Amino acid sequence: MFETLSERLSGALERLTRQGALTEADVATALREVRVALLEADVSLPVARDFAKAVQEKATGQAVTKSITPGQQVVKIVHDELVRVLGGDGEGIGRLKVDTPPAPVLMVGLQGSGKTTTTAKLAKRLSEKEGKRVLMASLDTRRPAAMEQLAVLGRQVGVDTLPIVAGQDAVAIAKRAKQQAALGGYDVYMLDTAGRLHVDDELMAEVAAVRDATGPHETLLVVDGLTGQDAVNVAEQFDGRVGISGVILTRMDGDGRGGAALSMRAVTGKPIKFVGLGEKMDAIEEFDAQRVAGRILGMGDIVALVEKAQETIEAEQAERMMKRFQKGQFNMNDLRMQLEQMLKMGGMQGLMGMMPGMGKMARQVEEAGFDDSVIRRQIALINSMTRKERANPDLLQASRKKRIAAGAGQDVSDLNRLLKMHRQMADMMKKMGKMGKKGLMRGGLG
Ligand code: GDP
Repeated sequence: MFETLSERLSGALERLTRQGALTEADVATALREVRVALLEADVSLPVARDFAKAVQEKATGQAVTKSITPGQQVVKIVHDELVRVLGGDGEGIGRLKVDTPPAPVLMVGLQGSGKTTTTAKLAKRLSEKEGKRVLMASLDTRRPAAMEQLAVLGRQVGVDTLPIVAGQDAVAIAKRAKQQAALGGYDVYMLDTAGRLHVDDELMAEVAAVRDATGPHETLLVVDGLTGQDAVNVAEQFDGRVGISGVILTRMDGDGRGGAALSMRAVTGKPIKFVGLGEKMDAIEEFDAQRVAGRILGMGDIVALVEKAQETIEAEQAERMMKRFQKGQFNMNDLRMQLEQMLKMGGMQGLMGMMPGMGKMARQVEEAGFDDSVIRRQIALINSMTRKERANPDLLQASRKKRIAAGAGQDVSDLNRLLKMHRQMADMMKKMGKMGKKGLMRGGLG
């Protein structure tokens, strides 16, 4: 999977990691190569362009972390961006909504994409891993061989298939499967729809009719991962005409160019839920963006190194901050760090929530509708202060307040709210400082 792309990407980035200092031109050159590598892997042009742009922006804004080189840091940024484009730890990856029995799962895709094989693989997985009773039915009325193929695979994996009745159309078979699933106490029934060589109106109308007759909980599109940008086009068409809940990329065991995986989420907005990795019935895996990004980049050591360094820095920062709190010191820089921490932890459970007395405050603030955008606005206010003002907020008189609020595009009342919050927190810190180190540590931060 991804061998060529992987070689190209690591080639472009390895040169960076060997250099001590990086110029903007170095980064730009490397990113140009990254973009070409993506395009050669058949990643769609807008996705490749956005990718390079996002990396460039993050690389420029990044504070340099000691003990790692800027080049290594760029590798980590590229890695994180790959994970993001691939769908991150997104909802619903590797899981199917099949909790209310009998749950219909509609399998759609072009002929030869691996749809029938994948249906049987998933059925096996659902029955073996999740203990579901599964019924499979082939709706491919034009190709009796395809119906027979599903029955053979069903026997092979120990999953029941709906008996074949000649002369029924797709909707009639689907209704029969629904009835049989309900009567037979099945948890899930999977409908393997007919494929065509190309997307056509007749096929879409038939799939839509089956959808309307059964109300599927999942509509999974099976596409051949080797077909690159075509796979993404097929996904857009199916999604537009019948609506899909997720994608399964097959043939990811071959040295595909990998572009489909990278473009799919960005272009269609639909998650890749599984990948097919061979012809055997076990050759299916949950799609894991972290793992796939790791395979694409092939520079896992560097990514791990940077993560470690960043963790160390954060730990050091937290420790410095604790020391200040113990002395009862809490200025605007401290507040900004707290706010940034909150953003990073995705809410109010940051350092603040871990500290004695602060957990309650964190909850109160949260209940008052304190979300990311509020935090960002507060950080903007602090950024609008001078260094002196940040170190000593007592300096803030009317004219300074006006300047700061205007600089952040906000009102003085917003700034006053921030100052009030700062005062409350500073008071708390003073009290805790008096409690001394021991008192603070007992709260759970030790
Ligand atoms: P359908 O026409 O979409 O139902 O496609 P099939 O399920 O009949 O699959 C077509 C061929 O692709 C079969 O020979 C499968 O064994 C093969 N196939 C399906 N999935 C994969 C996969 O993930 N990797 C590989 N290497 N072959 C696959």
